[in-house]
Amino acid sequence: MERSYVIKPELGKTYPVISHGKGIYLYDKEGKQYIDGCSGAVTALIGHAVDEVVDAMYEQAKSISFAYRSHFSSDAVEQLGKKLAEWAPGSLNWTFFVSSGSEATETAQKIAIQYWQEQGNFTKNRIISRWMSYHGITMGALSMSGHVLRRKRFVPLLEDYPAITGPYPYRKPEGLSLEEYGMQCANELETAILRVGPEQVAAFIAEPVIGATAGAVVPPPGYFQRIREICDKYNVLFIADEVMTGMGRTGKAFGIDHWGVVPDMITIGKGMSAGYTPMAATIVTEEIIEVIQKGSASIMAGHTYSANPQSAAVSLAVLNYIEKNNLIEKSAENGAYLLQRLQGLADELPLVGEARGLGMLCGLEFVKNKQTKETFALSENVSAKVIAKAFEKGLLVYPAVGGIDGVAGDSVILAPPITITQEEIDTLIGILKEAIEAVSQELQQKALI
Ligand code: PMP
Repeated sequence: MERSYVIKPELGKTYPVISHGKGIYLYDKEGKQYIDGCSGAVTALIGHAVDEVVDAMYEQAKSISFAYRSHFSSDAVEQLGKKLAEWAPGSLNWTFFVSSGSEATETAQKIAIQYWQEQGNFTKNRIISRWMSYHGITMGALSMSGHVLRRKRFVPLLEDYPAITGPYPYRKPEGLSLEEYGMQCANELETAILRVGPEQVAAFIAEPVIGATAGAVVPPPGYFQRIREICDKYNVLFIADEVMTGMGRTGKAFGIDHWGVVPDMITIGKGMSAGYTPMAATIVTEEIIEVIQKGSASIMAGHTYSANPQSAAVSLAVLNYIEKNNLIEKSAENGAYLLQRLQGLADELPLVGEARGLGMLCGLEFVKNKQTKETFALSENVSAKVIAKAFEKGLLVYPAVGGIDGVAGDSVILAPPITITQEEIDTLIGILKEAIEAVSQELQQKALI
């Protein structure tokens, strides 16, 4: 094997080389087939090699791929902006384009701070988030994230933002109804705002369904309605981070739509361009833009590739494809089927504590003991073992590990392209079951369960 000059996630490991993909399948150069059970990093929303998207990409490239946003707008970017205004709830009609989810959340953070500054308020510059959260890898985004494993090395360099715990129904205290628990978790935000002082808090950010740190945790009913009330009461902006949940992934256009709550900003990425080119965005309300327009009239953010016509044309083609093929409805319907099949695994397999999810964003949590819900030590790498075994058998699964022993279990995310059929889901479940059973046997042999 020739030496590699590329820094990979795990140094020293040899990765198979991708050859091509079609629909929910990927093929490596050795000819091995994989089911993309997690759309890569919950990204390939409509599957691989969709002709309409590839054609749109080519057509755009033939006329113009890049024009700098300080010089030009483009038809592609204008049409995409209009489409997003149609998709987004309330007055979320303005979009600021970037190229990654981290840039989108960090832009939202900056817009929130600027929004208060434009009104003469220079102290409202802290963001409250939740410990069970991931909002991105750059320093500003990481400051808002509770992903302990990814924060660890950089803690001294991060903003010391306050964080509350996220709702985690599987591990809710006994004696509380789901609704009461939801209220209790949401009310933590009020306590945090009062502790810090409302005059210091610019915004609260949360993922509608918790992704990378816990594996598709759906909040209790009423949780986000209460969050909205608290934000309104204390003049705190509410940012819904929909980088993972947006664009139909959960069976509605945006995850937050499940609760009829309208945020002040929505961040999107991943599924927005479904992996065909890098693309992400921060969607902002009319009210915020009005304030900034009356003030300095320019948002102090932006990157070289912001609003490039190439990615805009691709993203527009992805959204058109979703609309044309009713994929949001399919995501809801077949997502419910996926969850039902995963619940079957949770009933059958001792290692699976819970199956959960919304639409085509589902998770499994592995536990040492189903009755007590005892977690595995992170050092036992249980979800990593399941992921490796599934990979070996031709199924891609995404890790969701919070990073504190005993607080959250090892989880994985199942989030295939929303184009997946029920027959394909059956095949996926078959492979996943074999992988989990193989890991269970291994753990039994080591007397770990
Ligand atoms: N927010 C959420 C909710 C995410 O899931 C992610 C990526 N996993 C990000 C932000 C960061 O996105 P990116 O990796 O594109 O920077």
